[in-house]
Amino acid sequence: MTSDDPHQRPRLLDLPLLAGGHRGLARNGSTVSVLRPGDDDYVFGLNPRCYGCGQAPRLRVGDHAVEVLDPCPHPDGVTTTVDPPVPSGEMVLAADLRAVHGWDKKTIGDYATMAGRVRAIHSLAAAGCAFGPAVDDPGLHRTGPDAFVIATPDDEDEDGRLFGAERLASIPATTLHAYCAADFTARGGRVHDIDSATVVALTPGTYRFTHHTNESGFDYDHPGTLVLAHVERIA
Ligand SMILES: [Zn+2]
Repeated sequence: MTSDDPHQRPRLLDLPLLAGGHRGLARNGSTVSVLRPGDDDYVFGLNPRCYGCGQAPRLRVGDHAVEVLDPCPHPDGVTTTVDPPVPSGEMVLAADLRAVHGWDKKTIGDYATMAGRVRAIHSLAAAGCAFGPAVDDPGLHRTGPDAFVIATPDDEDEDGRLFGAERLASIPATTLHAYCAADFTARGGRVHDIDSATVVALTPGTYRFTHHTNESGFDYDHPGTLVLAHVERIA
């Protein structure tokens, strides 16, 4: 009996998915199911979009595998680097500074995808605000004279230190699940209008935020300290 036999009962075949670097497509991790025989190949067990780039996959169903035709443009994820100016030396940290720095929905598109989150980071940076997705209640910790991390400590002691580094600000988790850092008052913002904002006095200058949560190796469930971003003064 062959698969062309009209009397053969349809059945689901598990085939490996050749994902072309796209992430999160196969619901069970590595294989999808194909209904055979059938007039058209019907693939089950597939998520609609790549977790990284947000593309819907075009598929070629072969005898031994299902292949995604277009490779992922971001197979390793994305490390974002933004350089917001802090001319006043007063950096405001909070979960949400969009009231002043905005949120350009048209530019950002689908924030549920990594590509959307990367666009959000660059869009907010263009408005003078460092922004990044965050988990739990991250803090800004000083690691050098003009160097910091935004991190969620694991074994933090009661002094709120991390790697022996002082915590300068805590950023409470909100529905946005993000941090914002900006020279907020220089843009006309009023700190008293913002929930749980912290003003940190820094050397006036330009600060580079290197944000890590969109890298493919970043694991939110990693036990221990999670460094979301490195921050350093570059000018
Ligand atoms: Zn992709």
